[in-house]
Amino acid sequence: MKIDVRSPQSLYITIGNKTFYIDDSTNESIMELLEDERYCNNCGSKLGIDCGDAEPDYNEEFCSKGCYKETKNKNNA
Ligand SMILES: [Zn+2]
Repeated sequence: MKIDVRSPQSLYITIGNKTFYIDDSTNESIMELLEDERYCNNCGSKLGIDCGDAEPDYNEEFCSKGCYKETKNKNNA
């Protein structure tokens, strides 16, 4: 299981290939099951669609090499 906190009011929980998205930032108590959908760990764009860099998805976790590098840099900082 992976928990990806995006803000104090929103997060993604990934269990297997299912992702649950919880967001209360707009006070709407959004809880969604995003089945078999994957999102870039860096920019949050849906994988399978490029995030503007016109690159194919880099891997299962990132939409592009740029996003992969950015996250790596953040983790090292
Ligand atoms: Zn990205």
